[in-house]
Amino acid sequence: MPHTPSPPSPELDGLAAVVTGGASGIGLATARILARRGARVAVLDLVPDTLPATDREALFPVRCDVSDDASVRAGVARAVDLLGGLDILVNNAGIGAQGTVADNDDAEWRHVLDVNVLGIVRTTRAALPHLRASRHAVVVNTCSVAATAGLPQRALYSASKGAVQSLTLAMAADHIREGIRVNCVNPGTADTPWIDRLLSSADDPGAERTALNARQPTGRLVSAEEVGAAIVYLASPAAASVTGTALAVDGGMQGLRLRPE
Ligand code: NAD
Repeated sequence: MPHTPSPPSPELDGLAAVVTGGASGIGLATARILARRGARVAVLDLVPDTLPATDREALFPVRCDVSDDASVRAGVARAVDLLGGLDILVNNAGIGAQGTVADNDDAEWRHVLDVNVLGIVRTTRAALPHLRASRHAVVVNTCSVAATAGLPQRALYSASKGAVQSLTLAMAADHIREGIRVNCVNPGTADTPWIDRLLSSADDPGAERTALNARQPTGRLVSAEEVGAAIVYLASPAAASVTGTALAVDGGMQGLRLRPE
C-alpha cells in the first residue's frame, strides 16, 4: 500500500525556530521534527550547503559560525528575516575533543570552549531581543552525558559540556520572569556522522562500534531522532512548566548503575 504522509500536527504552527549545527546529526533530526510539527525552521551551520537537497524545501539553510560574533549576529538576523520572528532557539552546534588534560594545548581548549560554550552565549545574546517579543519563547541547549559522567579521555569536551549544563540553569533563572524557558538535553553516544568520523579513525571500526553499543545499558546507541524528539518536547507547549532541567537521552548510561555481566 502506498505510504500516505500524515498531515502536520498544528502543535508548533506559527512558531519560528533556529537550530544551530542543524545541517547534520542531532541538529538535522531536530530541525526535521520541528518542521513536521508545523514550525518554520532555519538551520544555522558552518557548512549549510551540506544540508541534504531533500530538506531544502522545509528548512532554510543559513551560513553561520557560532565561534564568530559577527557571523552569529548576521546569521540570527538573516533567520529572523526569513522566518518573520524567532520563538524557539536550539543551541546544538558543538565539536568534540579527546584526551586528558595533558593532551590538549591552550589553543585547543580555547577553540572547543569558544564553539561549545561561547557559541551558545553569542547565539542566545543575538536571539534574546526576538525571544523577548515572542509569546512562546524557549531555548534548548544540546549538552551531553559527558557534563557529569566522568568519562575518561574527554577532559576538555566534558568541561565544555559541564559549562553548558550550568549555563543552562543560570539562563533559566535569569530569563524565567521574561517568560523564556531554558533547558538542555544530555545525549549519550548518539549515532550521527560525528560517531562515523570517530570510528573511521579507529583501528577496527566494527569492534569499536560494538564496544560503544555495549557501553549503553540498552545495548545500542541513541538515535539522532530520539534526541531530536526530546529537544522538540522541551521546545513545545507540552513542556510549558519545564525549565532549568537537563533531560538525559542516553539509554540509561548515566542514571543506571549496572554491574558488568
Ligand atoms: P555532527 O558533527 O553530526 O553535527 C554537528 C553540526 O554542527 C555540523 O553540521 C557542523 O557543521 C556544525 N558545526 C560545527 N561547528 C560549528 C560552528 N562553529 N558553527 C556552526 N555550526 C557548526 O554532530 P552531532 O553528533 O549531531 O552533535 C550535535 C551536538 O550533540 C553537539 O553539541 C554534540 O556535542 C552533542 N552530542 C553528541 C553526541 C554524539 O554521540 N553524537 C553525544 C552527546 C552530545
